[in-house]
Amino acid sequence: MVRPWRVAIVGGGITGLAAAVRLRDSAPEGTEVTVYEQSGRLGGKLFTGELAGGPVEFGAESFLMRDPAGGESAAVTLARRLGLAEAIVHPTVGQAALLVDGTLRPVPGGTLVGVPGDLEKVAAVAPPAADADRDAGHPLLAAGEDTSVGELVRKRLGDAVVERLVDPMLGGVYAGRADDLSLVTTMPALARAARAEHTLVGAVRAAQAAAPRAP
Ligand SMILES: Cc1cc2nc3c(=O)[nH]c(=O)nc-3n(C[C@H](O)[C@H](O)[C@H](O)COP(=O)(O)OP(=O)(O)OC[C@H]3O[C@@H](n4cnc5c(N)ncnc54)[C@H](O)[C@@H]3O)c2cc1C
Repeated sequence: MVRPWRVAIVGGGITGLAAAVRLRDSAPEGTEVTVYEQSGRLGGKLFTGELAGGPVEFGAESFLMRDPAGGESAAVTLARRLGLAEAIVHPTVGQAALLVDGTLRPVPGGTLVGVPGDLEKVAAVAPPAADADRDAGHPLLAAGEDTSVGELVRKRLGDAVVERLVDPMLGGVYAGRADDLSLVTTMPALARAARAEHTLVGAVRAAQAAAPRAP
């Protein structure tokens, strides 16, 4: 007689809990699954707390709806499996703002994580350098070359664009300064476009055009 499996999952964050559900669904009949959690609370980094009397997510507050190929994401599949598909809350379209010289100004559109694809749109918040982004006569980046995002944007568009747009947006995502973040690692689509385009704005537009559009 085959003895039933006994599986221990160490950690009751979303990874451990999703693994437990997967085992429940696909492991042989009679499999015993135990989740060990040290903290006394399931969820790990996922944690809804309270701030100023209202609920607020202290960890992740959003997830991707689509996988890279355009299909349903694993998170949506899991929510559906748990009977929570109808409870998914889609974000309302809000207007993010930047505090510039004491005034809140809408974050300009058309940027790639803060790197502008349209200089006019960013001029009010982060005026580009006077002779900004002239045709370099050759691609911005040579084959195999890398640079920091900050260095490239400073060179092409000036300091204000880095400090008021790129650092708040890209730096916010990667918890670092644009001057210390590799273009190839943090913005691979822009790096690819920069190997063909002669201007930064052209490279941003090319990268945006190449990005798959999920509904
Ligand atoms: C502030 C913040 C915002 C985020 N925003 C997003 C977002 O918007 N979208 C997104 O997709 N992701 C986001 N993330 C990342 C996402 O939250 C994590 O990648 C994910 O929750 C990690 O899940 P996990 O189960 O792998 O790890 P964890 O959630 O860290 O769970 C690990 C669990 O294992 C337990 N454990 C560890 N060691 C032991 C042991 N020896 N014995 C027993 N138990 C143990 C821990 O107590 C913990 O409960 C964010 C993260 C943070 C911190």
